[in-house]
Amino acid sequence: MSDVDLIVLGCGPAGMTAALAAHEAGAKVAIVERFDRIGGTGAISGGVIWVADNPRQRAAGMSDSRDEALAYFRALDHGDLVDETLEAFADMGPEALAFLEDAGALKVALLDGYPDYYLDRPGAKPEGGRALDHDLFALGELGEWAGRITAIEEPKPMMLRETPLGGGTGVVAPEELQRRMANNERGFGQAMVARLLKACLDRGIEPTCNVETKRLLRENGRVTGIEGTRDGEPYALTARSGVIITTGGFEWDVDKRQTYLRGPMDAPASPPTARGDGLSLMMESGAKLGNMTQGWWAPTLVIPDTPWPSGEERAVPVLIERTVPHSLMVNRAAKRFCNEAANYSALAGAFHQFDPQTYDYPNLPAWLVFDEDYVERYPIGPRLPGQPVPDWVVRADTLPRLAGKLGLAGDALMQTVSRFNAHCDAGHDPDFHRGTSAYDHFYGDRSRQGTAVTLGRIERAPFYAVEIRMGLLGTNGGARTDGQARILGHDGQAIPGLYGAGNAIACPTGGIYAGAGGTLGPALTFGYIAGRTAARANL
Ligand SMILES: Cc1cc2nc3c(=O)[nH]c(=O)nc-3n(C[C@H](O)[C@H](O)[C@H](O)COP(=O)(O)OP(=O)(O)OC[C@H]3O[C@@H](n4cnc5c(N)ncnc54)[C@H](O)[C@@H]3O)c2cc1C
Repeated sequence: MSDVDLIVLGCGPAGMTAALAAHEAGAKVAIVERFDRIGGTGAISGGVIWVADNPRQRAAGMSDSRDEALAYFRALDHGDLVDETLEAFADMGPEALAFLEDAGALKVALLDGYPDYYLDRPGAKPEGGRALDHDLFALGELGEWAGRITAIEEPKPMMLRETPLGGGTGVVAPEELQRRMANNERGFGQAMVARLLKACLDRGIEPTCNVETKRLLRENGRVTGIEGTRDGEPYALTARSGVIITTGGFEWDVDKRQTYLRGPMDAPASPPTARGDGLSLMMESGAKLGNMTQGWWAPTLVIPDTPWPSGEERAVPVLIERTVPHSLMVNRAAKRFCNEAANYSALAGAFHQFDPQTYDYPNLPAWLVFDEDYVERYPIGPRLPGQPVPDWVVRADTLPRLAGKLGLAGDALMQTVSRFNAHCDAGHDPDFHRGTSAYDHFYGDRSRQGTAVTLGRIERAPFYAVEIRMGLLGTNGGARTDGQARILGHDGQAIPGLYGAGNAIACPTGGIYAGAGGTLGPALTFGYIAGRTAARANL
């Protein structure tokens, strides 16, 4: 006799969605978490969800379709896409979102005008509509679970759509902000994870935390449970219909990232919960892997004075800093090497460029160089305009002195800045075309006009620099699934009783970051598919 019908391993966005979908389909579900916090990477994320032809788009009368979405992905394919899983995402995404909204597990709104990332491709939406933001959530609704969400001590009392990044002004009246803080209201990924958790708790699906799964149990070739330890004591749980793996990516496992990722990556922006545990369990079960070289790449900035509570170095994605005026990025030769304002995921290609002559990566390390005009107006990681510049930012009175502190050639940096300034004056960057795409404008300083949203001279001393590292928001390779989220073995057949979703599997969109929310859209959709498939497997 099994303890439950189904075990979901991992209490992040994909896992909680899977648990809710399985419960809705009639299964008795247990959701099991390795750590004592809920939400994983999802909890510190922007929470944006990308789904084509979604219910909010339809309600707003915006036109979209699965065929446009498929055309868009196929126009970006470099051989990673698998028709069956891609089509399952396009077909089921809207239904998964509608399900979560109806279940009270999400409350989302359009991010007005947030464009897709590759606007020159057929099926892309320059006017946005596919990226969704979360309404605020009052943490008190979670009762004793309110303090159990990853990094919940860092309050995010705003919605993305209120910030410049989400198309807003960034200004919320101080009394309204105070009210939100007093009421413990949260936006972004915190709202997403909290609402998913609340929907689980409302249905009696309470996470079992601190379980370290050492192996999957099997009976007659079927996965039937987990075995390991809980708080150091032996622990086992059995399930009639099997196990859904939603343990996130493998970026915090140094061995796995060195084995699989296509290029250097040493500063992930995710919390150190993404350790590839689920990947190991699925490999031991004979899973076929896919997409392993890829990640949801992002240039990152390490914030030395705020490590993770468990001691690991903490990095944040660098989005605004390299897009707004009065900043540029240089490599070891003190030369620009890319359109700094390009989308974060595609930008990794520039960092991973390999020089066969020197047998090295010329664009690592890289530095963001900026001036006093920048410092007056724009943020640097957690430091907001008006606040003191942190000690970990390198500073000098002149560009040659700054170059000296960075170990760069001073004359080369002077030449680079002078050429960049000439481009700013001309309003045109012939070297890398910064400022020509709608994406560059969306993330730039929209109080300015034309290419000046992103191009601005670097001329006012003192001058500053920070090292830009190669990081990611999560890996997106893992076990291959079919369109029903069943994990496939090397023979291409589904492994009985084993399912997966989120960053633990080979993402149905391959390595393509379609637009804001491009990782959570597939994660929630495949969580939904996995929950339903697994629950129905033994009915
Ligand atoms: C700063 C930042 C911002 C981001 N913003 C966005 C955004 O706006 N939109 C977007 O689409 N994506 C965004 N992402 C990426 C997104 O958060 C992830 O891709 C997504 O959370 C993956 O979901 P998941 O459920 O697969 O994994 P996770 O969110 O990592 O959840 C996995 C869960 O499994 C648990 N776990 C791990 N190992 C085990 C184990 N052995 N047993 C049991 N449980 C285990 C973890 O603790 C965690 O709770 C962002 C990421 C970062 C770092």
